[in-house]
Amino acid sequence: MKLYNTLSRKKEEFKPIEEGKVKMYVCGPTVYNFIHIGNARPFIIFDTLRRYLEYRGYDVTFVQNFTDVDDKIIKRSHEENITPEEVATKYIKEYFVDADGLGIKRATVHPQVTDNIEQIIAFVKELEDKGYAYAVNGDVYFDTKKFKDYGKLSGIKQEELEAGARIEVNDQKRHPMDFVLWKAKKEGEPGWASPWGEGRPGWHIECSVMSNRYLGETIDIHAGGQDLKFPHHENEIAQSEARSGKNFSNYWLHNEYINVNNEKMSKSLGNFFTVREISEIYDLEVVRLFMLSTHYRNPINFSDEILNQSKAGLERLYNAKEKAEFTINNLEDTKMTEEEAKLQEELASFRQKFIDAMDDDVNTADAVSAIFELAKFMNSNITENSSKEFAQKALDEFKELTGVLNIVNKDKKEDILDEEIEKLIEQRTEAKKNKNFQLADEIRQQLLDKGIILEDTRQGVKWKRA
Ligand SMILES: [Zn+2]
Repeated sequence: MKLYNTLSRKKEEFKPIEEGKVKMYVCGPTVYNFIHIGNARPFIIFDTLRRYLEYRGYDVTFVQNFTDVDDKIIKRSHEENITPEEVATKYIKEYFVDADGLGIKRATVHPQVTDNIEQIIAFVKELEDKGYAYAVNGDVYFDTKKFKDYGKLSGIKQEELEAGARIEVNDQKRHPMDFVLWKAKKEGEPGWASPWGEGRPGWHIECSVMSNRYLGETIDIHAGGQDLKFPHHENEIAQSEARSGKNFSNYWLHNEYINVNNEKMSKSLGNFFTVREISEIYDLEVVRLFMLSTHYRNPINFSDEILNQSKAGLERLYNAKEKAEFTINNLEDTKMTEEEAKLQEELASFRQKFIDAMDDDVNTADAVSAIFELAKFMNSNITENSSKEFAQKALDEFKELTGVLNIVNKDKKEDILDEEIEKLIEQRTEAKKNKNFQLADEIRQQLLDKGIILEDTRQGVKWKRA
């Protein structure tokens, strides 16, 4: 498998540190609000990479943090007159609601900053002891001039940055590029006791500490949105490598931006949507398919028109699956014909196309195309004249590939309403009374196909959903 490594600026063959195992860290959300669609893209993409690695037999340890100490959280807590902890707890819960809707699997560990304060203090202390950090009035800064490789990820040169106005100006820093590791407590802010007085961690340090704590000094993959490359990831590298003297992450992956109606997403333009808002209009599975339909290193445009295309596409896939299931249910148990045996080669080509695409730097766009081609193949080749063996094989293939991307995974069986079930049960009872057992059996089977199980009891017929 090849992955585009931001660090080397080229596609590289993926070789994990330990055979069969992958250690992966993805920067998680700051929990002060609902996640927006820009946040959703890396979560969906890197969840898909994780699922694909697992599909290929890797044992993946996946860490995604929650930033639960931050200026925005403190601000929100003042606005809502609740504690920062309450703000964080609320939005962590909401994150999981959205993540579940988007089909994002739980991380192996979801560490929170507030559970890692002790580790953060120890890490900063080590940097200070090694001469990479300095304390000023209760703040601690990383001395970027001491770390020779500073800028190696983003390719940004210190001089360029210093010339530009892209960095925070602060009299306490030795160099404009230096960044804060520990902040002295201000009035109305949460704080923890430390060797530098009461305070709280800066943003960048948390990922270095949690990655080290849960995955070790060197990991396989560190990923996030393009906007995190600088300064966040650059600073993570500086902190981690200055402390350990080892490579922090072997592969760095970054996804491109999301535009809304061809404009950059921004609050001032009024085109800033949370996942929760979108979920009121579209099933979030549509959003997942939409995100996977473009390669993660290309920008993606979010518009109603394109979402509607994804919606129609998803329906086509569901229809192909349901039609196949229905046909198979009505087929006799028959073996593959000679003609079908020849079609097997074509059937296998879809999986090969899918794997080739995913192996080529997680090209989900081509992987999705392979699934659409397979759906088309099923529509023409699973018929009432098919053998059950062949039809089932094609359907299994479809389920396997859609399973890797975690799409078309819902059983639409619940689509039958309670009233319809009651009505069919009534008809069946009537049929039995009239000794029309064939019709009664047919109705039972019809319900079973929709996942409804009937039970004849002394109190009458009871039913439940499978
Ligand atoms: Zn991070």
